[in-house]
Amino acid sequence: MPAARSIGLLAAGGTISVVPSTSGAREHSGADALAPTASALPDGIDVHPRDVLRRSSRAMGLDDLWTLAEAVRAEIAAGRDGVVVTHGTDTLEETAYALALLVETTAPVVVTGAMRAPHLAGPDGPANVRAALVAAAQPALAAYGPVVVFADEVHVARLVTKAHSTRVAAFASPAAGPVGSVVEDRLELLLGPPPVPDRLPRTAAPARRVTIVPAATGVDGALVDAVAAELDGVVVAALGGGHVSPALGESLVRIAGSGRPVVVTSRCPDGALLSRTYGGAGSEIELREAGLHFAPYLTPPKARLRLAFGLSAAIPADELFPAGP
Ligand code: ASP
Repeated sequence: MPAARSIGLLAAGGTISVVPSTSGAREHSGADALAPTASALPDGIDVHPRDVLRRSSRAMGLDDLWTLAEAVRAEIAAGRDGVVVTHGTDTLEETAYALALLVETTAPVVVTGAMRAPHLAGPDGPANVRAALVAAAQPALAAYGPVVVFADEVHVARLVTKAHSTRVAAFASPAAGPVGSVVEDRLELLLGPPPVPDRLPRTAAPARRVTIVPAATGVDGALVDAVAAELDGVVVAALGGGHVSPALGESLVRIAGSGRPVVVTSRCPDGALLSRTYGGAGSEIELREAGLHFAPYLTPPKARLRLAFGLSAAIPADELFPAGP
């Protein structure tokens, strides 16, 4: 019989681990409570639980992402065949993407969670953990970078997003769909790994401040101008293919001109950023010519992580976001 696959199970909190208390406050159980009992483990898997954090994902900071990345690296360095991270769903996609930036996945890394807490009817945590363990035990998954396994689907970190606020099937990859699924305790990969690696060429603990500025009808640069001096960089959640109001564009061009990187993403959940379709004030052509960077297919929160961790490791913004559509 082949040796069992040794999988690290790292707990970081979230609904999957919530324990109701009499005071009404929510507490989080640790990794031991999340690991399936021996009789409920999929065949050929040994699970090694470890607590890393116990909190709601809304309370995660960039330092916590660094802590988690170090914990995942340590598991891989210790010779685990795969790693599963359990996490709150609200910012789960950001943690998966931060791991894609920070961790060399020589072994599969899978992030999962639950929409229904353990004490509610039909909790989805145990099924998600089981599917995540099955996926993490398959060496072929390492080439995809960190993935999210949720409701039996496998999503790559770059594309996945929480697309529904309450349903059990909460996650989607709007640009391309899931890359695979878990069926009958079997990982079925349907698409290949992402063509562009997300991992940063070097990493450092987070030490740079980046914020997200939303574009909307009639929004000018007053908000971003008020805080620009405190920031190391700005990400704009632009309209459509990469546009902002003329007034917001003026502020962003000024900030970029002062040497602080400004990165354009789209507030649309799907679709490319343009490069040569619209001209004039606030257009993608103007913003590109003024030296703003563009981050196609990255949501604003993920572009913020890339800029913040990249700048922290002294990687210039034009290397983080190479020119091109
Ligand atoms: N509020 C929770 C969190 O993100 C939601 C969840 O885990 O589903 O920690």
